Amino acid sequence: MSKTNEGLMARRQAAVAQGVGQIHPIFTQRAENATVWDVEGREYIDFAGGIAVLNTGHLHPKVKAAVQAQLNDFSHTCFMVLGYENYIEVCEKLNHLVPGDFAKKTALFTSGSEAVENAVKVARAYTKRAGVIAFTSGYHGRTIAALALTGKVAPYSKGMGLMSANVFRAEFPCELHGVSEDAAMASIERIFKNDAEPSDIAAIILEPVQGEGGFYAASPSFMQRLRQLCDTHGIMLIADEVQTGAGRTGTFFAMEQMGVAPDITTFAKSIAGGFPLSGITGRAEVMDAIGPGGLGGTYGGSPLACAAALAVIEVFEQEQLLERANSLGGRIKASITAMQSKYSQIAEVRGLGAMIAIELMENGQPAPQYCPKVLAEARERGLILLSCGTYGNVLRVLVPLTAPDAQVDAGLAIMDEVFGVVFKG
Ligand code: PLP
Repeated sequence: MSKTNEGLMARRQAAVAQGVGQIHPIFTQRAENATVWDVEGREYIDFAGGIAVLNTGHLHPKVKAAVQAQLNDFSHTCFMVLGYENYIEVCEKLNHLVPGDFAKKTALFTSGSEAVENAVKVARAYTKRAGVIAFTSGYHGRTIAALALTGKVAPYSKGMGLMSANVFRAEFPCELHGVSEDAAMASIERIFKNDAEPSDIAAIILEPVQGEGGFYAASPSFMQRLRQLCDTHGIMLIADEVQTGAGRTGTFFAMEQMGVAPDITTFAKSIAGGFPLSGITGRAEVMDAIGPGGLGGTYGGSPLACAAALAVIEVFEQEQLLERANSLGGRIKASITAMQSKYSQIAEVRGLGAMIAIELMENGQPAPQYCPKVLAEARERGLILLSCGTYGNVLRVLVPLTAPDAQVDAGLAIMDEVFGVVFKG
């Protein structure tokens, strides 16, 4: 065994001992746009995008330059202690980008889970109610309150005991798995009948397209029914756009395609092109329900991450990445749909913009057994893929929107080859 390989084995063993839970046994050396090189010198096409974080690719030159420029001045003051302008500029941009024709305010944090928790805090403070309705297969993070909102998406809440008593679970509409929109609405009415009065409910939270749950999109009509229900009962509608936001679905926020605006929107992941930044944008009067100092955190809205976010937003405009999300998504969907005639296990190819899922079924049942094999065979051939889904049977494509067509096609060709090996082998 070479010295490098010995070192690599040792690092992998150390990771296992730490219980890190790496999906791919790879150690990264360098990454650029949609390409990653590992410490062994192997090259990979990145179809995972750091779990939906790299819509503008790894180290976009403009993002890198913006962060380097910020580093020349200062890296941290804590916004609550000493302010800085790029925090305010990011807030102003988000107030403009988040859908809703009303006055808005934004607060910045570091992770998606933090954004979710703060969205719930704001909704509770404004409504003076405690209850929250969340959905089956919804994913909202791993901190304890965010986890309570997360549905049974394995393995996040296993062994964690009872979650919050103030969370009520409604059905998410999904025709493929037999839940109609009417059934989903009826499940909320059941909560009102059996568990909590509408006047106990502060918020309904959902992802416009469920991410970890399997890339199931809510329809505009479902979202409109939820909006109406919220308006009737004074409930806040929270759109968790941590995964769908920052252009992945072909509009900057997926809610732009739903015909109604949420009261509060969460964002994170791709907003800062790989730097840790999250936040919430909401109706100004709702955000004002929590007084000065109530929303924040030591690293919230780091100046380095804010510099990155401003660059990301500019890159979206300059490189027309919303149009690119739609054309790229169409290209990927068409290519994988064409593979359906060869592989009966591909039950459905779906997606909004460039958030594409491939649902694997066999004999009418979810077929999660294929996912680890597909991931491993793809990795061997230089393609990084991820799976997800309540049943663990969904392959997801989150390639950077900046990836050139030729590289996307090369990744799709690897997928085709891998499907041949795994489904026919
Ligand atoms: N909300 C959604 C919709 C997510 O997809 C995620 C992460 O995957 C989160 C919240 C949690 O974000 P984080 O892992 O940054 O805490």
